[in-house]
Amino acid sequence: MSDQSSTLPPFRRALTAFTQWVDSDYCPEGAEKLRAEPDRVDWMRVMPFVFLHAGCLGVIWVGASPFAVWTAVALYFLRMFAVTGIHHRYFSHKTYSTSRFGQFLLALFAGTTVQRGSLWWAYHHRHHHLHSDDPEDAHSPHVHGFWWSHIGWITSRRNFPTDYTKIKDLAKFPELVWLNRFDLVVPILFAAALFGFGALLESYAPGLGTNGWQLLVWGFFISTTVLFHGTGCINSMAHLMGRRRYQTGDDSRNSAILAFITLGEGWHNNHHRYQSSTRNGFYWWEIDPTYYGLKLLARTGFIWGLKPVPQSVLDEGARADHQASVEAARQAALLHPEISHSSLKRVVPAAAAMAVATAAAAQATLPKQADDPAIHKDVTELAHELNAPKPPVI
Ligand SMILES: [Zn+2]
Ligand SMILES: [Zn+2]
Repeated sequence: MSDQSSTLPPFRRALTAFTQWVDSDYCPEGAEKLRAEPDRVDWMRVMPFVFLHAGCLGVIWVGASPFAVWTAVALYFLRMFAVTGIHHRYFSHKTYSTSRFGQFLLALFAGTTVQRGSLWWAYHHRHHHLHSDDPEDAHSPHVHGFWWSHIGWITSRRNFPTDYTKIKDLAKFPELVWLNRFDLVVPILFAAALFGFGALLESYAPGLGTNGWQLLVWGFFISTTVLFHGTGCINSMAHLMGRRRYQTGDDSRNSAILAFITLGEGWHNNHHRYQSSTRNGFYWWEIDPTYYGLKLLARTGFIWGLKPVPQSVLDEGARADHQASVEAARQAALLHPEISHSSLKRVVPAAAAMAVATAAAAQATLPKQADDPAIHKDVTELAHELNAPKPPVI
């Protein structure tokens, strides 16, 4: 058997796992070797994650109060904003800019989501875009099944290390690497702060009926666990449920339900088509609260340079929507020929004529590149570029 660590005595394995809980870059086997292994759940290593879920049971002892429940809800949405607006739209795709100190503050805030470090997150996410729904994709529901894509992949030994060579644009900042390496520091401080806040409220605002333990269970354990599963829906459900506007090379989909749960990430097919834009909801009716939040933040000057969706991509999407609705009308007419005997008979040909005219007009004015099947991949390309052999200098 090629796996050395599984042959270690249980005490040594437990010691290694314990060290890794604290220092996530500790990898005695070598990260490269680990990544080359097949997927396997590392139960020792994953204990903090199990503990996070088990902590929800604390509700049996601490009970509930409206204040604690609303705190959990507020922290869910606030931290979902951190997942999508920071882990995803800043660190993974660099869809806007900020100062170095601003970047550090963003990483601190994103650390409260308890989804490991921002660099770990960005490395895996860029990898997902490079290999979406192919066997290399760590969390494709089509390759690995629903549960593995939703939760299993983060328990796999090979997915624990961060490959800093693939995210050199982020790894050059030691403060970010430190936060990524000791990724339990921020969650522990956050949990302690919630406990302390609850204890203060118990003393100074007893009318709220809450206390330290209750805020810890609701604000940290329950809210964070639900936040994890809400985020996980993008890895699992967003490649299964919804509509495909763009013919990307994967099975990413757009879903309003997932967009609500994840503050805009549900427009996943849009995002797979064009990853550099700050917004994932490409049209006004595609609600994208993360984008609205980032726009507000930009007004303060804390962030800037939000990247738009190119007009050619918007036009391509409008044309695809249009063709889909014409096709849907044709299918409806085939399935329900009775409409040809109704008053719709007069309306449908006119609507079809307008549809064809609009499509023809759009085709005539669009730049040729809008039909280019190449899918935009932004900073995810760095992983390839940085590791490609350099041409000889003459
Ligand atoms: Zn992405
Ligand atoms: Zn995806």
